[in-house]
Amino acid sequence: MNQMKNIVILGATGSIGTQSLEVIEEQKGFRAFALSAHSNIELLEAQIRAFRPVYAAVTDEEKAKELKIKIADTDTKVLSGVEGACEIASHPEADTVITGIVGIAGLRPTLAAVEAGKRIGLANKETLVTAGDIVMAKAKETGSEIIPVDSEHSAIFQSLAARVNKENYETEISRIILTASGGPFFGKTKEELENITVAEALNHPNWSMGAKITVDSASLMNKGLEILEAKQLFSVPMDKISVLVHRQSIVHSMVEFADNAVIAQLGTPDMKLPIQYAMTYPERLPMEGNKLDLTQKPLTFDLPDPDTFRCLALAIEAGNTGGSMTTVLNGANEAAVSLFLDGKIGYTDIVKNIRREMETHQVIANPALEEILAIEAEVYKRLAK
Ligand code: NDP
Ligand code: MG
Repeated sequence: MNQMKNIVILGATGSIGTQSLEVIEEQKGFRAFALSAHSNIELLEAQIRAFRPVYAAVTDEEKAKELKIKIADTDTKVLSGVEGACEIASHPEADTVITGIVGIAGLRPTLAAVEAGKRIGLANKETLVTAGDIVMAKAKETGSEIIPVDSEHSAIFQSLAARVNKENYETEISRIILTASGGPFFGKTKEELENITVAEALNHPNWSMGAKITVDSASLMNKGLEILEAKQLFSVPMDKISVLVHRQSIVHSMVEFADNAVIAQLGTPDMKLPIQYAMTYPERLPMEGNKLDLTQKPLTFDLPDPDTFRCLALAIEAGNTGGSMTTVLNGANEAAVSLFLDGKIGYTDIVKNIRREMETHQVIANPALEEILAIEAEVYKRLAK
């Protein structure tokens, strides 16, 4: 790589964000050009002092004011609000935008980056679940490259890169096989899930991640969202996407081709690989960290249990219905998980709330951005009561 690449990290204070900064620290050739956060200005200040970005964007207006005072002695310019995040995401000098904001809040900044034709390292899967048609169409129009950071989708992207001839895409791929760790409740019965506590849901066996995605991993909603994410990223129909529970999280996902060849990407569970790959693609750079030792544990694969993990079934249902139904699924899940984390509803209420919202929703076939945002807001408001 001959030229320094300017990286914008949306959600720099989160799990994806901090690991993206570690990649920048460990690799030459990348610069933290701009960082965004929502509320954690203490960590953001430390990051600013360590990485000296040109811009920092804080979506919470009050916190932005506080940060401005704290870092008055530095050269970093502080922007505020969603507009600030959109501004750094679409800045003319930005090369790659890592979207590490959690939830629907990532939609507008991601779209701003796509509209500006940036390379996206996409972690914020909720954006594709809720507005994938709009985002992918815009990316096609502007030439914005969307490189997945989600480990499964990065694995699929890497497996697809094995094809030299990029034509016949639709007929050559016969199936995408997403692997799932199964989360902390694998093997449990419906009854055993009744009294799950927040601490139990936050105890993921293989990955250390933000709270929302950790709960989604426990309920298998994460895998449901990932099916919808894969549908958008790789433009494959729902019936070509399947899920296998793979407890060891070594095989990160696979593609089965028309000639029955299955190509997979394997590695130790470490998000820094997909983050780095999104920055360096199509090149690969050496990386610190554990090499995979396949002699250490057997690899196992099981079918998921959608009767117990109803969130997975609901996500598949929403994907088959299409239109605005995936927006409702995503919005209701986000609102319900937040209530669960705040101790306001029980674990099994998450799925009940999502189901109720889906059952009462009048589907819009091709919702516009304003309609998507309005549906999200309505669902949020209803569930918060
Ligand atoms: P975290 O909760 O660790 O971090 C979330 C980030 O988003 C923080 O920087 C937070 O800012 C910011 N944020 C929160 N609310 C808002 C808001 N309203 N507006 C703007 N920014 C906001 O999440 P993760 O890093 O775990 O996940 C981020 C995304 O990446 C999710 O979509 C997740 O599904 C996806 N992902 C994550 C993986 C992982 O390993 N963590 C793996 C695969 C995908 P602050 O802290 O300052 O409030
Ligand atoms: Mg994943």
